[in-house]
Amino acid sequence: MAIWNLGSINADFVYAVPHMPGPGETLAATGREIFLGGKGTNMSVAAARAAAVVHHIGAVGDDGEWAVDRLMEYGVDTRFIARVDEDTAQAVIAVDANGENMIILFPGANDAIPQAILQEAMAEAETGDWLLIQNETNLQRTAATLGKKMGLKVAYAAAPFDADRVKAVLPHLDLLVLNRVEADQLEFATGERPEALGVRDVIVTLGADGADWFGPEGKRHFDAIPVTPVDTTGAGDTFTGYVLAGLDRGQPMAQAINLAMRAAALMVTRHGTADVIPDLKDLEGFRP
Ligand code: ADP
Repeated sequence: MAIWNLGSINADFVYAVPHMPGPGETLAATGREIFLGGKGTNMSVAAARAAAVVHHIGAVGDDGEWAVDRLMEYGVDTRFIARVDEDTAQAVIAVDANGENMIILFPGANDAIPQAILQEAMAEAETGDWLLIQNETNLQRTAATLGKKMGLKVAYAAAPFDADRVKAVLPHLDLLVLNRVEADQLEFATGERPEALGVRDVIVTLGADGADWFGPEGKRHFDAIPVTPVDTTGAGDTFTGYVLAGLDRGQPMAQAINLAMRAAALMVTRHGTADVIPDLKDLEGFRP
């Protein structure tokens, strides 16, 4: 089977700064690195590293070929990444001496994915494949509706949280993944806990406390694997990509979550995002 991921593609510009600049202040960065990022990209790479067949549906501008090449190198099908007349999305990230960060996100091409490319992708999808969506692109509702109609299973990582977008896709979902904060935001927006909203499987990730899975047989808690974290960026994305890859391989949910828990734990011991997401081989050698 396969995973079709409608997702963001970002260039992450990470600047090291001595302190956060205030209004009107000019501040020299002490270093800069450029990473491939975006929640969608991270999830595609994670699922591919977990040995799934992954088709990424998205868009870049003419400054984004390097990102497409990198995704391809990582084993993701990039045929459904459109070239559009917008700049590739950017995240400008300042990290100060205490490790605190500030992020300015420029959505660019992520919000200009043409419907035609989604339709081309869905024309190749097969019944029983997974469609994955998050909140960093346009077309989520269209994708969820179309995917469901075509017999795909639909998974949604409700990040970054947006109440209207969540409500719009809820009726189409088979799996909803949220972190603790997003679960509380969804409860505030709907008056119900996420597991009471009619989605078959709901996973609430709890950082160092692991995750709760609410499935047809009720709630089950999974402890996190104890590690010393150095950078928690991308933990949730790695977790979601791995869960989907497991489900796509036909594993029971508990087994998929257990492997995802190991992948996310190893991920938080590494600096960086998409480029450093662990693969299955890394996990074999991972003895926390
Ligand atoms: P997000 O990155 O979306 O905010 P979480 O912080 O809930 O998501 O983390 C997602 C998953 O990553 C958790 O369910 C857990 O498996 C793993 N994880 C996150 N932080 C840690 C940690 N400090 N130690 C071990 N595992 C962690």
